[in-house]
Amino acid sequence: SRMPIVGGNWKMNAGNGTTKQSVVELVEGLNAAPKPSSGCEVFVAVPYIYLDSVSSTIDKSFKVSAQNMYKEAKGAFTGEISGEMLMDMGISTVIIGHSERRDIFGETDALLGAKISKALSLGMRVVACCGEHKEEREAGTTMDVLVPQLEAIVANTEDWSNLVIAYEPVWAIGTGLTATPEQAQDTHAKIREWLASKIGTTADGVRIQYGGSVNDKNAAELAKAPDIDGFLVGGASLKAGPFSTIYGVF
Ligand code: 13P
Repeated sequence: SRMPIVGGNWKMNAGNGTTKQSVVELVEGLNAAPKPSSGCEVFVAVPYIYLDSVSSTIDKSFKVSAQNMYKEAKGAFTGEISGEMLMDMGISTVIIGHSERRDIFGETDALLGAKISKALSLGMRVVACCGEHKEEREAGTTMDVLVPQLEAIVANTEDWSNLVIAYEPVWAIGTGLTATPEQAQDTHAKIREWLASKIGTTADGVRIQYGGSVNDKNAAELAKAPDIDGFLVGGASLKAGPFSTIYGVF
């Protein structure tokens, strides 16, 4: 009963290149690709400067998402973009707390919680990310790492209908080391079990995406896992062919 949701996180890539022309080419590719099935939601998360052009040119079967936002509405926050600004541009989906935001830009659970709260209050769809590092998995502390991340989500979410969790083990991001379907399922089930201990049966309806080296070869097998409700795709979302194959598994 959970509708699968697949996102293409372009990160700091302009499609498969570094120019606005490469953005045009990816959008043209997606517009020509097989459409997502009516039983699957698909979004692309593009750099801020391309949000407007992509949302006005991409087929309406794709939603357009931001990759980040700031917690405040306006003011002296050089370099930041607010949820209010995104909504005014017609962008109502946002990724919050990607591991690259946490690890490279030092974003804390406290800040991410405030962003989640703000985005939900504006009526945005939030894709809230969590994930452990390699050493943490190897030390058997995966859930110890995920729980505080999840607590920040739970503490800031009242209505769960707009909240999607993306489980992205950091060791699987951009490494080609995809979690096995068993590893991913095991962690997704533990996340849902922990959520159920906090929010009861509402947890049954919360969608949990898997992210980390998902590609057109491994997506079908991962998608069979009962607690994997979609994917957050990085590298393989930069070309229309592989990305459409990935969302096409749902
Ligand atoms: P890759 O698919 O490139 O491993 O990236 C995953 C990711 O971080 C998506 O947000």
